[in-house]
Amino acid sequence: LFFKGKVSCVSEAKQVFEQIDQPNHISYTAMINAYGLNGLGHDALELYYQMPTEMIVEKTYACILNACSHSGLVNEARSIFSTISMKNKWIYTAMIDCLSRSFFFEEAKHLIEEFERYDSPYVPMYVSLLSGARNQNNVSLARETIHRIQELFQNADEYLVSASTLFTNILASSGELDEASQMRHDMYRSGAKKRSGLSWTEINGEVAKFRVQDRSHPRTQEIYNELDRIESELIEHGHKFDSSWITRPMMPDETVESILNSHSERLALAYNFIQRPIPSRIQIVKNLRICGDCHGAIKLISRIRQCQIVIRDANRIHHFADGKCSCNDHF
Ligand SMILES: [Zn+2]
Ligand SMILES: [Zn+2]
Repeated sequence: LFFKGKVSCVSEAKQVFEQIDQPNHISYTAMINAYGLNGLGHDALELYYQMPTEMIVEKTYACILNACSHSGLVNEARSIFSTISMKNKWIYTAMIDCLSRSFFFEEAKHLIEEFERYDSPYVPMYVSLLSGARNQNNVSLARETIHRIQELFQNADEYLVSASTLFTNILASSGELDEASQMRHDMYRSGAKKRSGLSWTEINGEVAKFRVQDRSHPRTQEIYNELDRIESELIEHGHKFDSSWITRPMMPDETVESILNSHSERLALAYNFIQRPIPSRIQIVKNLRICGDCHGAIKLISRIRQCQIVIRDANRIHHFADGKCSCNDHF
């Protein structure tokens, strides 16, 4: 059940769940989580309210709040949150994430303060605020948040890098180009290591793995030719390649298009399109969060090429079909 939910086969997960004679707290929680990860917040809520209250554990609360968060169900999340007597950091984080996604920043900050009265600061709460600030293009909140992160979490390398990347992106997309390039430069000089993007896709039982800018696959030439075709189709359908998602200095022989086109999930996607027959449902797993340019491009590709594309990234599962994504752009 846990596995099916994670790989995005919600209907199969549901079948497994329904065959369980007497579901326990683990099976309920796994099913709620499967709905949540796949953007089915209402189904998650329905099951949560059917669940016998004595079975509800802390993990269940975190899962249902995450499910609400990913579907933008703020009021439902608020009312569940208010019933929880013992709240741990995951429960707080899920609620703060939910509020930040819907731009209730004051309420989110208030919860962070409440949490920090009794506990030490927890960096994912601030990353949620920062993601919310990005979705609203709210530079002042982003600046305030990144300063808090730098001040509180000097040793949390991995988080510092991803938070700084997010902040650079916010600056760039709000037109603060000088500050953005300064930030990029500082990160580059400090030797901050970003984890590099990796994507996996399974075709005919074989798993292919792609790094960002990968040229090691035996069918590399075909893959890049396909990406060129996809690029023309995207441009023809009005896609604007968004350079604000590029988080490193550009080399002289590179273009905005060439950098974004070689993101690992795009290579994995093109590899699917050069198969004959083309898989009816394309499935990709990515180790990091999908960037905004890939998200927008893949939405469009799902419409242009009339196919279903499922991408599981570090944060959630995206079902792309007919020009839309199941996350409603809450990513
Ligand atoms: Zn990307
Ligand atoms: Zn999405």
